[in-house]
Amino acid sequence: MEIPAELLQILVCPSCRGALAWDYESSELICSSASCALAYPVEGGIPVLLVDRAHKP
Ligand SMILES: [Zn+2]
Repeated sequence: MEIPAELLQILVCPSCRGALAWDYESSELICSSASCALAYPVEGGIPVLLVDRAHKP
């Protein structure tokens, strides 16, 4: 599965507003901020950008 680059550009971490990067191996969106670094799941191709559902990688 892949996340379109255009989508990645507009998505931000809901916790810190940092940029998100797609992790192929874990199929998660990882916050690029080192102090935050939350990982968000993607379910059925839909990023779940909820802090309640995120976890530290
Ligand atoms: Zn973040």
